[in-house]
Amino acid sequence: MTEPEIPEDHPRYASLVTRHRIEAGVEAGITSRQGLIAQGRGEAFDYLLGERTLPSADAAERTAAAALLLADHPVLSVNGNVAALAPAETVELADAVDADLEVNLFNHTEERVRRIADHLREHGANEVKGLAADGEIPGLEHARGTVDADGIEAADVVVVPLEDGDRAEALDAMGKTEIVIDLNPGSRSPQTADIPIIDNLIRAVPNVTVHARELADEPPADLQAIVDAFDAEEALAAAEAAIREGTFSTRDS
Ligand code: ATP
Repeated sequence: MTEPEIPEDHPRYASLVTRHRIEAGVEAGITSRQGLIAQGRGEAFDYLLGERTLPSADAAERTAAAALLLADHPVLSVNGNVAALAPAETVELADAVDADLEVNLFNHTEERVRRIADHLREHGANEVKGLAADGEIPGLEHARGTVDADGIEAADVVVVPLEDGDRAEALDAMGKTEIVIDLNPGSRSPQTADIPIIDNLIRAVPNVTVHARELADEPPADLQAIVDAFDAEEALAAAEAAIREGTFSTRDS
């Protein structure tokens, strides 16, 4: 079924559209096959969260917007799932906070980096980093630690959606402010993050943009106060509680 053929009143519409995009991403050589497994895992957590943005996630998204606006050199890391699910929304966020876009893949091939960069350009991106591959994240083997020297290596604030735990820890060790988007509050990456966003990236990315536009004219001291007031442990605990204590009764299946 192509995306327009999925009836909008289908109770699982959002989930079916998401699956279709990931499948199309794999067919187009943008998303890896492991990306399909990540998608399945994410869907299960999203189902348990009630497929909604929790108030704690919205607060994390606002904090992320403040941190990105305060940054000297923010970078949004894009992998195959992000490129398939929210390419235009990611480009829009980069514009809103004046961030670089860098393709950064766990299963790295130059061909796939190129395809993702082209895909982002088709969705409005100008410059896309990730092809120079002249920098590194210390502590990781070469293939997984390669980044652009003037991109992720030089960044002070990085957004890493669906990041692998080892890389999230290595980026943290570099002293970067790390914003992780991941539906699993128990995963190592959000647990490592300064700002963990426990939400579907499809909802999270546009919502960070909305907050960034609202906060754009705030003085730096007020943005810093938002960042300082954020409690990562509390955000993780709120998501875990929602997952453990949620009920299926109000949901469609
Ligand atoms: P762990 O540290 O538990 O081993 P991992 O990062 O290695 O975690 P993977 O199996 O690679 O886990 O799964 C990818 C992660 O991406 C999962 O935690 C899943 O919840 C998350 N995920 C998948 N799709 C989305 C999405 N659309 N939005 C946000 N998070 C997602």
